[in-house]
Amino acid sequence: MTSFHIVHLYPDLLNLYGDRGNIMVMEKRCRWRGIEAILHTVNGDDPLDLSTADFVLLGGGSDKEQAIVCETLMQFKDELARYIDHGGCLLAVCGGYQLLGTRYSSALGELNGLGLFEFETVAGKGGRCIGNVVIDTDLGFEVVGFENHGGLTYLHGQHPFGKIRYGYGNDGSGMDEGLHEKNCIATYIHGPLLPKNPKLADHFIATALKRKGELTPLKTLDDTMEEEAAKIMIKRCATEKKENPYISR
Ligand code: GLN
Repeated sequence: MTSFHIVHLYPDLLNLYGDRGNIMVMEKRCRWRGIEAILHTVNGDDPLDLSTADFVLLGGGSDKEQAIVCETLMQFKDELARYIDHGGCLLAVCGGYQLLGTRYSSALGELNGLGLFEFETVAGKGGRCIGNVVIDTDLGFEVVGFENHGGLTYLHGQHPFGKIRYGYGNDGSGMDEGLHEKNCIATYIHGPLLPKNPKLADHFIATALKRKGELTPLKTLDDTMEEEAAKIMIKRCATEKKENPYISR
C-alpha cells in the first residue's frame, strides 16, 4: 500500500480559522483512494526531518505566535529550503506565508523571516483585508476562500498563486494572490482552503506521488457538494461590492 506522509507544523500555535481542516482533507482524500495517510505533528522543540515528507502545512497565526514559530523554525531553515528545492509540496497560509519571506514589519516590530523567498511583508495602514476571495490560478481551476490579514506582501519577481477576481490579495490592491514557486504554494486564503477546493488537495497529492515515482492516476472522488458551494460563492462575489481601503476601483 502506498503511504503518504503529511507534516503539520506547529498546529498548537498556527491554526487560525480552521487551518487544520486542510490536514483532514489530505488524510481523507488519500484514505478514500486506498493510500495510507500518516500524520506527523511537529510542535515546540520537536526535531524537524522532512526527508520522507510528502506534504507540509504551515498554517496562519497572530503576529505574536508567528514570532515564536519563526524563532523555532529558523534552526530548520536549511531543512525547509532543501525540501522546497527538491520539489517537496508545501502549503503555507497567511502568517505561515509571511514567515517564508525576508521580513515582516508589524506593530510588534521588525521580524526577520526565514528568507526562503525574497519577498517582504509590511503591516498595512488602511485596515485589515478581510472577506471572501476568488482567484484564477494557472493550475487550470479557480480557488475560493476567505482572507483576514493586516500584513501586505510585496513579491519581488516570484510567481503569484493566482490573479484576484474578488478580494484584496497580497498587497491589498486586488491584483495578485499568494506565491507559487516549485511545489510551494503560499497564500492568504484560509477558509480553510482545501475543504473548499478539493482540486487543489488533489493537485498536491498527485504532485507528491509523482515526486516519489508513483504515477498511478488518482481515483475520481465525488466533489459535487464542494463544487456547488464554490459556484454559489463565485456567483455571490461576482455581484458583491465592497470598499477597498487600499485602492479605489
Ligand atoms: N499576523 C498576520 C497578519 O495579520 C497573519 C494573520 C493570519 O495568519 N491570519 O497579517
